[in-house]
Amino acid sequence: MTMEVHILGTSSARPTSIRQVSGSLISCRDGIAVIDAGEGFQSRFATQRKRMKSFETYHLKSSKVGVLCLTHGHLDHTWGVLPWLQSMALDNRNQPLLIIGPTTDGVVDAMLSGQPLPEDTPQSDLSVQYRFWHQLGGTSSNLGYEVRWVLGAVKSNRWIEFSSQGKVVQLSEMPQPEGWRHNRIEPIPTVHTIPSCAWQLTSKARKGKFNRYRAIELGLNEDEKAELAAGTDINKNGELLLSRDFRGEDVSPLSVIISGDTAEMAPSLTSIGGCNLLIHEATFLDDLAQHAQDYLHSTASGAARTAIACGANHLVLTHYGARIKQTGPSLDEAMSELANSEIGLSAAWDGDRVLVEDSGKVSHLYWRDDGWTR
Ligand SMILES: [Zn+2]
Repeated sequence: MTMEVHILGTSSARPTSIRQVSGSLISCRDGIAVIDAGEGFQSRFATQRKRMKSFETYHLKSSKVGVLCLTHGHLDHTWGVLPWLQSMALDNRNQPLLIIGPTTDGVVDAMLSGQPLPEDTPQSDLSVQYRFWHQLGGTSSNLGYEVRWVLGAVKSNRWIEFSSQGKVVQLSEMPQPEGWRHNRIEPIPTVHTIPSCAWQLTSKARKGKFNRYRAIELGLNEDEKAELAAGTDINKNGELLLSRDFRGEDVSPLSVIISGDTAEMAPSLTSIGGCNLLIHEATFLDDLAQHAQDYLHSTASGAARTAIACGANHLVLTHYGARIKQTGPSLDEAMSELANSEIGLSAAWDGDRVLVEDSGKVSHLYWRDDGWTR
């Protein structure tokens, strides 16, 4: 199956009359990854579910959410987490949920040794919020479904988990959502005023589909089909049947990245060597480029420079400052950077979907009150 991103909030810092704060979903073969959950996230998710039910064939069930990935601890990306967890408890969720986000090495060390957090730890560090949410009932025993609270110093790849007894334990590696076999999530360090990362969802390469109709046509028995499917050529009535003739083309891995808040050209992002879709913040226009630099955000043109450097096939702009009402100027400024590239470009509005097909083709579907249009 393809991957599809639902962008449920495109405003930076605070909601406006036309936009809500951050929160997106990536739907894939294994389930759903939620990336950030700012204020009001659960209502937007519920609205999108309803829309999908009315207009589309596949459903966005919250029971399919396997992981909540946080890009950083600023409240416009996290304030909706606990209310949403509590609503899922009221809905009798029983699937496990992984919650995962970035912090510093100092916090990891302090938590493992039971020491107070380093003095320079910002109030909005996710470790502070995890504790707060625990105190307010965000534990597996309170919620009635298993929640794994995981934090990591992303650059040094050190991961800790808040156990249900309130202890903090070290993990040997970053966990993946339970039961996910076809896709992986991975953090990519970004550059912001507090520890931050983009999240990348990558599907594994897959063999092409086995052509069972052809096998039936030739009257093959189960053993013969199994051999061909496993890649072995067989002899049938004196004729050599090549296993490769029974499979469609292999499906290459797909990869989607959602940036969170970051300055442009975050080094770990620009060195990833390609992705199908980059959804990148574009808080400012070029007139506030200095502002973007000072506050470690991006301009639309900076998002475009990043997309070129990281080898993205398509760039979607999001996370606009309150001064940006229409997306035209953002698109123009990004396009002037992309003019000599093959990179596709679009600008997100709340409720849009961005589809990545098996072939790698990207389509941006714009929400228009009575369905989506291309
Ligand atoms: Zn933000």
